[in-house]
Amino acid sequence: MSESEQQTPVQGWFTEQHERSGSSFGLRIKERLHVEQTPFQTIEIYDTTDWGKLMVIDGCTMVSTRDNFLYHEMMSHPALFTHARAKRVVIIGGGDCGTLREVLKHEEVEHAVQVDIDERVTRLAEIYFPELCESNGDPRAELKFIDGIKYMAELEPESIDLVIVDSTDPVGPAEGLFNADFYASCYKALRPSGILVQQSESPLVHLDLIKSMRSAMRVAGFHAVKTLAFPQPIYPTGWWSCTMARKGADLSGFRERGAQTKQFPTRYYNVDIHKAALASPEFMREALGE
Ligand code: SAM
Repeated sequence: MSESEQQTPVQGWFTEQHERSGSSFGLRIKERLHVEQTPFQTIEIYDTTDWGKLMVIDGCTMVSTRDNFLYHEMMSHPALFTHARAKRVVIIGGGDCGTLREVLKHEEVEHAVQVDIDERVTRLAEIYFPELCESNGDPRAELKFIDGIKYMAELEPESIDLVIVDSTDPVGPAEGLFNADFYASCYKALRPSGILVQQSESPLVHLDLIKSMRSAMRVAGFHAVKTLAFPQPIYPTGWWSCTMARKGADLSGFRERGAQTKQFPTRYYNVDIHKAALASPEFMREALGE
């Protein structure tokens, strides 16, 4: 996504060309419903023929009605079922509110703050993706519209249990969310055995980025690091990942019984999916030294 070029204006299609992988992804559209330039980025909303609504930021696909559950569930449930009891959660980015909705499905969560730099992403999500915003009125939810880098740097030490970095690609306002300084702020803000999880792009074409993220996380002090892959049709290569890092405890197991008996619905996540996501393909093992 970060290396996407200008879209090819093919009549009736939204196309994201991905220069680095020499591929492009397209969705047939009925119409463009909205476009605006905010102080941070260009946001477009499309109505598609088969995928519901589509949000695009700076030419890169962000969220579609049809497949966003894959990403939002994998950004939240593996980490929440790994932590013994995450009470205080911070989401950096995530302005479409889909990750916040998944986090608040966990009754152990007492407070979840979503910190997106661009309020317009959330205001447009409320209009075009109301189902993702259905938990915004939950008394445990707090929405802030400020820079996540500054927010994390100023958090009280050892005050949170989980940070989820649901950001755009490492360019523009999100660039500073992918380095050791930012991870050091996360490390400081997390309680012992706290977890950081960050979207980490495509294992097929961004292994170099995944490697550098993982080593920056270790430099920041994190004890264990694990990258989980999952399908995501609307992102380049159709395959995506998140990388978890943990303070003072490992990441090999999770609360299997809790996941098995969860009292809320999911469409992708379950115990077997979690176990499968913890298994790394050979090329990833080799590249990441696992
Ligand atoms: N799932 C998506 C993906 O990988 O394409 C990410 C979706 S979410 C809409 C990404 C959000 O990150 C955007 O709303 C953007 O405003 C936000 N963002 C980018 N840089 C940020 C920063 N420095 N602080 C807080 N939010 C940021």
